[in-house]
Amino acid sequence: MGKSRSATVTCAYLMQHHCITPDEALAQIRQARPLCEPNEGFWKQLELYHSMATPKEVDEIPAYQRWLYQREIELSRACGQAPEAEKIRFEDEHVREQGGAEFELRCRKCRRRLATSQYLITHQPRPNTTAIATPTTTPTSPSCSHYFLDPLSWMKPELEQGKLDGRLECPKCKANVGKYAWQGMQCSCGDWVVPGISLAKGRIDEVKSRPLGSGTAGVGVGMGIRLPPSNEGGRRTGVGGQGNL
Ligand SMILES: [Zn+2]
Ligand SMILES: [Zn+2]
Repeated sequence: MGKSRSATVTCAYLMQHHCITPDEALAQIRQARPLCEPNEGFWKQLELYHSMATPKEVDEIPAYQRWLYQREIELSRACGQAPEAEKIRFEDEHVREQGGAEFELRCRKCRRRLATSQYLITHQPRPNTTAIATPTTTPTSPSCSHYFLDPLSWMKPELEQGKLDGRLECPKCKANVGKYAWQGMQCSCGDWVVPGISLAKGRIDEVKSRPLGSGTAGVGVGMGIRLPPSNEGGRRTGVGGQGNL
């Protein structure tokens, strides 16, 4: 009917050829055919395509693969099932660790490193009645008792069992460090995270990452790395007692 699907394909074409945004592309099309209106799902894909800088081939682009994975998760969730083992995307097997991770999450009991901050999923603490409404999404609001994160390879033995939910053990000391629920999980801040794969704050120590391969901290490490505040008492919240590595 020339409204949604064809408009989407045309938008993608214009974006790719003219390096323009989805909005600009749609505005162009609407000059000729005002009723064009990509549906919500297609529009999200156009935005994704734009965020990937409109490559000609998308198959190998991590952001696209991630989108496929999320769609898969969504499908199995709609069927009330856990995703098939081979469909689970263990993020650390795909995304190379960047030196810029701000902090690490370690097992409080044995210090085994369980994740770095780059694998954390941000969510939106619900403004509650006493709202000190900060409209920012954050991985670790003071009102959150969980860190939500992507599936990581150490979780394989558990996640590949095909269960809908369960517990996560530290691979080294077997301490209970978190839980997961493919159908989603509600954080103590009120927000739902789907799928919910979480580490419990009380069982985890948050430790500042050391810049890669440097003895002298803080000087000239790559781009985008925030220099540590000169001393304690910065923006850190909760999680007491993390010492040096
Ligand atoms: Zn441990
Ligand atoms: Zn939360």
